[in-house]
Amino acid sequence: MQDFIDEERITSLLQEATEPDPQKIRDILAKSRSKERLEPEETAALLQVEEADLLAEMYQLAGEVKNSVYGKRIVFFAPLYVGNRCINNCIYCGFRRTNEAVQRKTLSLGELETEVRTLINQGQKRLILVFGEHPAYDADFICQCIEKVYSTKDGRGEIRRVNINAAPMEVAEYRQLHETGIGTFQIFQETYDRKTYAAVHPAGDKKSDFQWRLYGLDRAMEAGIDDVGIGALFGLYDWKFEVMGLLYHAIHLEERYGVGPHTISVPRIEPAINTPFASVRENRKYHVSDEEFKRVVAVIRLSVPYTGLILTAREPATVRRELIPLGVTQIDAGSRIGIGGYQKSAGGYLPEKEQFQLGDVRSLDEVIAEICELGYIPSFCTAGYRCGRTGEDFMALARPGLVRKFCMPNAILTFKEYLLDYAAEKTRAAGEEAIKKTLAEMGKDDPLRKKMVDEKLREIEGGKRDVYV
Ligand code: SF4
Repeated sequence: MQDFIDEERITSLLQEATEPDPQKIRDILAKSRSKERLEPEETAALLQVEEADLLAEMYQLAGEVKNSVYGKRIVFFAPLYVGNRCINNCIYCGFRRTNEAVQRKTLSLGELETEVRTLINQGQKRLILVFGEHPAYDADFICQCIEKVYSTKDGRGEIRRVNINAAPMEVAEYRQLHETGIGTFQIFQETYDRKTYAAVHPAGDKKSDFQWRLYGLDRAMEAGIDDVGIGALFGLYDWKFEVMGLLYHAIHLEERYGVGPHTISVPRIEPAINTPFASVRENRKYHVSDEEFKRVVAVIRLSVPYTGLILTAREPATVRRELIPLGVTQIDAGSRIGIGGYQKSAGGYLPEKEQFQLGDVRSLDEVIAEICELGYIPSFCTAGYRCGRTGEDFMALARPGLVRKFCMPNAILTFKEYLLDYAAEKTRAAGEEAIKKTLAEMGKDDPLRKKMVDEKLREIEGGKRDVYV
């Protein structure tokens, strides 16, 4: 079956685009500025830019495009690993079947509730539940986990959006998840290069079926899940090829369903216990340097202006600080990825329980304070999903950049809740200052909106929670 990843075409587009004309690049950047999704030829040209001045222009514009679509806000979430049993043997993964150094564990519903309470009491409102690929993690089990998360309340807190990262499913299984109420379903293709895919996913494993995975989100869409997340694991193959693969995947979803990916994730390979492929850099021909990684983030932002872009705590704080202004929209913080890790680890690495080693283990509050310093409003907004602004409705707002009219008010309102209920004193002072400054800017652009936000802030100060537009 012919699929939408045409390797020859991608390779020839990249070859034809070498040494691009600066004027041509500036024309392409003008198209990004108008928030139009780029065509593959255009993305290939951006990927081939080497000139320092042009790269600087691209980085600058990537941040501006993000701010003009979503506003100056960064959404926070936390990953929650439910179980690390897996039937696959992906060579880069600490959870692979034959890795005897890993302790296998699946949270009971009671243990899951304890983890969720810990996260609620840190101020988290959005989770992504992560599962290995195993018959025990079927749709029934995942639905029970989702229900457990939504039904767990603690004090004034609760989790208001549950996203899922799990193995590709059949349409009927996705439908079950959809009915239970999930936000985004994420599947990362890992690599869009078939040869590499076959080399890192041993034949005979469920995961070795490239196309089953490639069309996994089509089946989710067919089941009614219209917020889907794509991603590639950077470091398996040529990063330029992978960015092209992500773009073709976005175009495929747009063409078939009228809705592009809600998010694109850009994980880089990190070390894992007893996993030489991931832990020894020399084993990987396609290691992506920090400078190359900046280009990955900026080119994706410029190519698919409407999409959310996720940069996780895999990356160290220094890298996150540098990359967030290039168009990132979502980050996790305070993350612990060992099974049961929020209870068991006060900040340490639990190698025998983790899929890979995190680069940024700072607390949520520390990262929140830094995001304010960088000039953004931290957001715990879950309103889009709960108001039905998903799929086509979301895209209709995101493509012309109207979604920021909702994102910024909701960022301020949910951040205010965080500041009142969970923030350390110093963070609260910095956060209140950031809100004041943002409201002053909003007042100049859109006084009516500012008035509405002021009124809702007073409701929150008066004790009301879960206030949104
Ligand atoms: S990457 Fe996923 S499917 Fe592959 S071994 Fe790890 S947990 Fe299993």
